[in-house]
Amino acid sequence: MTQTIGLPSIGETEPMLLGGEWTTGTGNGIPVLNPATEQVLTTIGQAGQPEVDAAVRAAALAHEDGRWRGLPPERRRDTLVRLAELVADAAEELAVLETLDNGKPIERARGDIALGLDAIRHFAGAPVRLTGQVQPSAPDRHVYTLRRPIGVAALVLPWNFPFMIAAWKLAPALAAGCTVVIKPAEQTPLTALRLAALCLEAGIPPGVVNVVTGDGRTGAELVRHPGVAKVSFTGSTQVGREVMAAAAARIVPVTLELGGKSPDIVFADADLDRLLPMLSRTIFGHSGQMCTAGSRLLLHRSIAREVLERLVPIVESLKIGPGLDGGVTIGPLVSAAQRDRVESYLKLGEGTVLTGEESPPGPGFFVRPTVLTGLSADARCAREEIFGPVLTVFEFDTDEEALAMAGDTEYGLAAGVWTRDLGRAHRMAAELEAGTVWINTYNEFNSAVPFGGIKQSGFGRDLGDAGLEGFTVLKSVTAAW
Ligand code: NAD
Repeated sequence: MTQTIGLPSIGETEPMLLGGEWTTGTGNGIPVLNPATEQVLTTIGQAGQPEVDAAVRAAALAHEDGRWRGLPPERRRDTLVRLAELVADAAEELAVLETLDNGKPIERARGDIALGLDAIRHFAGAPVRLTGQVQPSAPDRHVYTLRRPIGVAALVLPWNFPFMIAAWKLAPALAAGCTVVIKPAEQTPLTALRLAALCLEAGIPPGVVNVVTGDGRTGAELVRHPGVAKVSFTGSTQVGREVMAAAAARIVPVTLELGGKSPDIVFADADLDRLLPMLSRTIFGHSGQMCTAGSRLLLHRSIAREVLERLVPIVESLKIGPGLDGGVTIGPLVSAAQRDRVESYLKLGEGTVLTGEESPPGPGFFVRPTVLTGLSADARCAREEIFGPVLTVFEFDTDEEALAMAGDTEYGLAAGVWTRDLGRAHRMAAELEAGTVWINTYNEFNSAVPFGGIKQSGFGRDLGDAGLEGFTVLKSVTAAW
């Protein structure tokens, strides 16, 4: 069914938000492209030291004068509830904006906005339930802990889930009473800017939410600014190291959500009728540009042939096209650079290509979904995060071998386990080196459940109580009389 999609208005330039004022900044503009057409959607400013400094100072002033953290918790809750209402009203516009900006299929974009909205709703209730503890103590003592907002939080965002991850970080930061400076990815700034506008409309005081636009230089400027008290970063492992080093110089806590090379393990007793349709979610959704992508499919040898025979026609039937067309699974990659990066892995000639040919001709940064088998364990396609629609397939004989293969990676973000044997499923869940394990499902998120990685996938958590606590300082108080 063809649906007419109204296009949101996008300015010739999209300004950043510094201390409640929208400004284009002084640096050169960066063009923002529609990845499906390669046309310029708008231009954003490249925030340099003056803009970053203005944003952090505005956030620091708003923290110090208590215009947000000093409000009664019920007021902050009600304001976040209002924000959720505004996001819900703007959901379709935000989804279209996300598809224009990032390229992802509109149905996926709607799902992302819904997940971001869910996080805002979830954390809206947090100001009134963010409590410390009272410790048992002597009769002449009162001992307790308080959770205080940590201060100015720098939220540095990736391009693959621009709205959802903005909401995953912004909502708990605001619920904790922090003020923030958001740095969206330069490829996809539009929905984070729209979210900041909705924050103002909801009544969050000016200066509490600031946005600086620009590339990695802006991000680097932000994370080393002395006014920043916490950095929450989602992006590549390589940049994560740089962010951590900058934060280490000032002993500032960081949350790092980094890359992955997640195993999806299919045992002989798996329900293949359930698994196979879901592969569009595990690896090919968002054209593989997911940190949690199940990019390594580990198959028990006894079922490997059947799985691949059934999988290939499914992959070949996935619709490729502009995300706004509807019914598309494989939208364009976010940029020419990302398409070239993915193609450079395919050009290595590693393994056997079961399906996946030449990329479709432009315009648009499209790459065909590809399945690779016969890779050696040390092949680059087997070890490195490709971040595109490329599934690598391996075979195993025993549970122990599956575990060893799953863990043979520097990453530890997520893992999938497909089996009808509950004992095996929970044994695997306990043993797998991953921050998240999905059993007989994949890529399911819940705002109450912490999300993050181990090993080179980072540390700290988004979502859940852990996500909220990451924006707080735990203070202990001992009173005597
Ligand atoms: P990236 O690391 O290149 O950029 C992420 C953000 O950091 C962008 O806003 C960028 O401008 C900024 N940045 C770049 N250099 C910086 C620096 N030196 N200091 C501070 N900020 C800097 O990542 P990307 O290409 O935008 O995203 C893709 C990567 O992100 C993939 O590796 C993917 O696995 C990872 N990712 C992880 C998660 C997760 O939750 N674990 C989620 C989404 C994406």
